[in-house]
Amino acid sequence: MAHPFTAADPEVFSVVDAERERQNTTLQLIASENFTSPAVMAATGSVLTNKYSEGYPGKRYYGGNQEVDRVENIAIERVKRLFGAEHANVQPHSGANANTAAYLAVLEPGDTALGLRLDQGGHITHGLPVSLSGRFYNFVSYGVSPSDERIDLDQVRDLALEHRPKLIVAGATAYPRTIHPEPFRQIADEVGALLLFDAAHIAGLVAGGAHPSPVPLADIVTFTTHKTLRGPRGGCILSKAALGTAIDKGIFPGSQGGPLDHVVAAKAVAFGEALQPPFAAYAAQVVANAQALARALAGEGFRLVSGGTDNHLVLVDLQPFDPDLTGKVAQEVLDRAGITCNKNTIPNDPRSAFVTSGLRLGTAAQTTAGMGEPEMVEVAGLIGRALRSRDDEHELAATRHQVVTLCSKFTPYPEPFG
Ligand SMILES: *Cc1c(COP(=O)(O)O)cnc(C)c1O
Repeated sequence: MAHPFTAADPEVFSVVDAERERQNTTLQLIASENFTSPAVMAATGSVLTNKYSEGYPGKRYYGGNQEVDRVENIAIERVKRLFGAEHANVQPHSGANANTAAYLAVLEPGDTALGLRLDQGGHITHGLPVSLSGRFYNFVSYGVSPSDERIDLDQVRDLALEHRPKLIVAGATAYPRTIHPEPFRQIADEVGALLLFDAAHIAGLVAGGAHPSPVPLADIVTFTTHKTLRGPRGGCILSKAALGTAIDKGIFPGSQGGPLDHVVAAKAVAFGEALQPPFAAYAAQVVANAQALARALAGEGFRLVSGGTDNHLVLVDLQPFDPDLTGKVAQEVLDRAGITCNKNTIPNDPRSAFVTSGLRLGTAAQTTAGMGEPEMVEVAGLIGRALRSRDDEHELAATRHQVVTLCSKFTPYPEPFG
């Protein structure tokens, strides 16, 4: 079925149609992706995109913001209730913008901060030299222990005592284990640092009670609204009340102009969905599915970094399965079989970030589409089959066919949205 606007602009809307078809007929295992609800998409595609509203509810630079004020207040009230937060800013255009604003709020250029190493699961905004975070601040990196591949809290403490950071950043983009906020709080208190917990990936698990909440313990919690939280593409910042003014200034005028009011409305819708009881069941199923996927992948001969998972993602070490198979090639082969995921470095990866020895797989999206543990076993089998037969076009085509059959039972978007 064609998109309702295909006639208005065939060039663009045929692409939208093709992308909907791709999402319906291939497996979406990118750990940072999800399928939003029709209500979230309707808000994102609404007339609110037309409004300019620099500032905050009740304090705007332009007129005509009475309705925008209402929707931003709804979003703020809902997200504070969802996470038990004292202050919320719902305007960040993305997770990266949320972190930038948080840094502007509490750091001066040149100040020292701690963050997780990027090649061991950290995010570019946690100090990559070419990113704003790495260029303007002095980020020192901690890593995971070689023995258990879990965050080395002794190292975090040693580095904190040595470097006396003003800010400690916890949180990760490719880390399959629970990040407990308590030890980070203790270390931050010991050295007089603030604690920022970047919950970009796990916000939906926290909201659904499937991961401990960092909100009571961290000074600032940033997150994205589009990963496990299943909202529109965007960011959010929660903080203690005392930091609220500085955080708000860090977003506007510190680093953004007018908010994306249509996205703010869609965030409000997503927060409302996450406040409903079924969301807790969803979050629990995401984790159960990741654990089922991990077990089945181990059965296929893959090694799981850290031995398994506590959250929505698994990090696969390809080396025991096939020492010659790189993450780059595995991603390409799986793409041909209709399985979408990303290559990823594993801790102490012998290969570069462009090649890698690992894959990152997440269950948030396919759980939304309705898949459970039996399907995860099937998915692991399809991954094994595709990667074992990567030079066999016939086998890959047969695997692709199995993927299409599986996806036809779990179609996220049977109808185009107007
Ligand atoms: C995804 C992610 C971000 C950035 O989110 P964008 O919306 O892509 O800017 C920040 N921090 C972590 C830990 C992430 O995983």
